Amino acid sequence: MKGPAGARGRRRVAIVGGGAAGVMTAWLLDGVHDVTVFERAAHWGGHIHTVQAEVGGQALPVEMGAEFLFEEGYGGTLGVIDRFGLERWTRPMVVSLTLDQGQTTFAMPPYSVVTTLASLRPATLRRLWWLRALAARAEAIADAGDWTPTVRDLIAQTGMPTDVAEAVVIPLIASSWGIEREQAAALSAYCVVRVMGLRLKHRPHAVVVQGGLGRYIDALVADAPAVDFRLGATVEPILVRDGALCLRVDGRPHDFDEVVLACDWHNSGALCAGDGRLAAWRAAFAAVQDTHARVALHRDPRFMPRRRRHWCNANFDLTLDARPRTTIWSGRATGLPVFRTWLRPGEDPPPSTSHLAEYRHVAMVPEHLHRQARIAALQGDGGVWAAGMYTAGVDNHESALRSALRVAERLAPGAERVAWLAQQISG
Ligand SMILES: Cc1cc2nc3c(=O)[nH]c(=O)nc-3n(C[C@H](O)[C@H](O)[C@H](O)COP(=O)(O)OP(=O)(O)OC[C@H]3O[C@@H](n4cnc5c(N)ncnc54)[C@H](O)[C@@H]3O)c2cc1C
Repeated sequence: MKGPAGARGRRRVAIVGGGAAGVMTAWLLDGVHDVTVFERAAHWGGHIHTVQAEVGGQALPVEMGAEFLFEEGYGGTLGVIDRFGLERWTRPMVVSLTLDQGQTTFAMPPYSVVTTLASLRPATLRRLWWLRALAARAEAIADAGDWTPTVRDLIAQTGMPTDVAEAVVIPLIASSWGIEREQAAALSAYCVVRVMGLRLKHRPHAVVVQGGLGRYIDALVADAPAVDFRLGATVEPILVRDGALCLRVDGRPHDFDEVVLACDWHNSGALCAGDGRLAAWRAAFAAVQDTHARVALHRDPRFMPRRRRHWCNANFDLTLDARPRTTIWSGRATGLPVFRTWLRPGEDPPPSTSHLAEYRHVAMVPEHLHRQARIAALQGDGGVWAAGMYTAGVDNHESALRSALRVAERLAPGAERVAWLAQQISG
């Protein structure tokens, strides 16, 4: 027993979805309630998915989903990584931008004599000046915490010329999420600033975990011995019967007192479609707006800037009219040719692709804040709860842990782990 159970005593709790939010909820409730986690995939972690890329007989751990964590704003995630003694360090984040039909590539921040010289052209200096003006404005947006202004509004507030906005800023944001330009312009500027770290106060340094981020998820699973974790378990729509919530998993019924939906909004909505008493939940999930991304892990250097000396952690090819493209140099630390590219719609993955992943991403538009409030107001209704990055805060990994904490604070108030995580997140 890790702490007192909720006001209603020890409960049978099902958690549907074994991404960071689901696994963290399970770890927080371990020993407090009788917890079962159902994950339909063959691995824990959801968007945290470390795979092994084989290059020249070497295995390199590479992230297929979430990769970039920062020292600012990730107190919960880093607290857990440290609690389990996982080795971590930081590396400076440098990005390249390729523009003008591939004629110009420059790095931000300039990190060597070569990339600095590349920035000394008048057209590039002008763009850098405006990016700096945008970052200065972003500082105030981040501090105010106001979701209302869109990216388009932020651009207008800085007085940025149209050519810089249309050729640099909007495609840069669009390529970061693998979305269309209009979708990028409509995002909440606050969310974009927080997720991309577009601020001037800190030079961004990304956190690297030895062996990959998947190790911290595995550590949480291993440290929750009373939880029944089930992989490859697909859950069918919830039925309400005799005061219990019945989940059919691979054809077999299981009764629970509480169900935490820690999968995405589409699957959560589908799970609430089986009983009219869950209609309010279903409507709340249906209101969430999303975008799609397809990510290929490959070895094709043609997706990178033409000159190798311009290769950075993240490389934004803004020359493509249809949809600009991002390629992460996953092998940067070792110099190996391992890349991760956000493919354009209908684009074939390169022949050297070893892993391909499809993701549904939440569109962090200003209205999403109201959708989160609607979900928050429903928490616990009919014994159903919602966890997941999209239910709390901005589109980053820390939000997944925040969402788990919110649910656990209600289901296991006073539990030791709950108090500990709350302190990590707020501290
Ligand atoms: C491509 C990509 C890159 C990202 N990069 C970053 C980054 O660099 N930094 C950052 O901070 N954040 C990043 N994010 C945000 C990321 O979404 C969050 O970091 C977080 O990992 C989301 O966790 P979650 O538990 O809310 O959802 P998920 O990880 O999506 O977990 C949901 C789980 O539910 C399971 N599931 C769904 N339906 C069912 C069902 N019916 N039955 C059983 N199981 C089901 C799924 O298989 C999945 O495992 C990225 C997201 C994407 C898509």
